[in-house]
Amino acid sequence: MRHKTKLVVDLDLLAGNFDLLKSLCPLNTVIFVVKANAYGHGLVPIVRFALEELKVAEFGVATLGEASYLRRKLGHLDFKIYVFSDTNLDFQSCEEAYLDQNIIPVVSNKTDLDFLLKNRDFFDLPLCLKFNTGMNRLGLPVESVEEVVEALKKSGRTRINHLMSQFGCASLPITDGGPCAKQYNRFMEVKDFFKSSGVEVEGSSMANSGAIEQGFALNETHVRPGLILYGPSSLNKSCLELSRWKGRNISQLETYIINSFVVEKGQAVGYGGIKAPDDGVVAMIALGYGDGFSDRIMGTTLRHKGHLGTILGRVNMDMTQVFFPTADLTLFAEKEKFIIWGHDPQDLLNYSCEGQVQMIPYEKFCHLTQRIPRIYVRCS
Ligand SMILES: *Cc1c(COP(=O)(O)O)cnc(C)c1O
Repeated sequence: MRHKTKLVVDLDLLAGNFDLLKSLCPLNTVIFVVKANAYGHGLVPIVRFALEELKVAEFGVATLGEASYLRRKLGHLDFKIYVFSDTNLDFQSCEEAYLDQNIIPVVSNKTDLDFLLKNRDFFDLPLCLKFNTGMNRLGLPVESVEEVVEALKKSGRTRINHLMSQFGCASLPITDGGPCAKQYNRFMEVKDFFKSSGVEVEGSSMANSGAIEQGFALNETHVRPGLILYGPSSLNKSCLELSRWKGRNISQLETYIINSFVVEKGQAVGYGGIKAPDDGVVAMIALGYGDGFSDRIMGTTLRHKGHLGTILGRVNMDMTQVFFPTADLTLFAEKEKFIIWGHDPQDLLNYSCEGQVQMIPYEKFCHLTQRIPRIYVRCS
């Protein structure tokens, strides 16, 4: 476990982001997406805060294991939890987990649907169906909607509690006639078909972060934001100006300088004897791939007290060398704090490697390993 290297999560900033979200979609119920350990921020503390302070009552995760863990940890609290994709390799063998823990499987194939409809115990759980409207990843085929209606009626069901679908291109500009618009039209056709066949659709959602940021698909009862609530925009860098999102990163990833020293141009540094590109200063920071600071960010730039540094050579397991083209050793106080990203949304974009492998903010968050403690503060 690290001590001085930590992810400091400011819950008041999460509250601020939530207020901002509500101003963008005041009429929608929020399904707060907390899969992958709440995008690296810590599942239980984030959900507890959202429940108790933000009055969020519905959450989305990817796997049954995540949902089940939440129920075990927060069993005394009342909330809805949806499992979006990994409902289970063998859905049937997990029947009890869903029923006993009141977890809602998002049904996205006919086999699971048939199983669920045959089992009367599932009548007590909300019925949630996901359709493939064009992302082509998961979901009941749009063409099967008649068959689904028949199956529902045969089992005595006349209501879908939640109907959903997922956009494939919401991080790109949403245009009339573009892929999102096409998907949304298909979604509305499916919804209309159910209604005209006498199947009530109680709730529905399509908008993830990208759609919310562009004000799209907000006529449904629910929205399903993930990334934006943690701070960053989910839009591609090339179209960030289209985003209405002005949130702040709820986390700050901080480490410190273990050692710093002057180098001459050409001097060997670290594993593989990587040569310093110029005269300057190297700062060794206490963060490596063992912390999830991926070697893929080799060559990336990091800012410290306004000075631009470059990761020199490979990221090590426990530390990383950052080169600054300056002779001013006083730039670094011994053991001083070094911030990888702070609360400014721009920070997560800066820490990236132009022209090399692109790493999206989702991945930067999710990479962080258990070695980095998550510390929760309230700063306002
Ligand atoms: C992950 C996920 C979301 C949230 O996506 P963001 O881009 O983080 O907002 C919404 N819906 C489903 C089904 C998901 O799997």
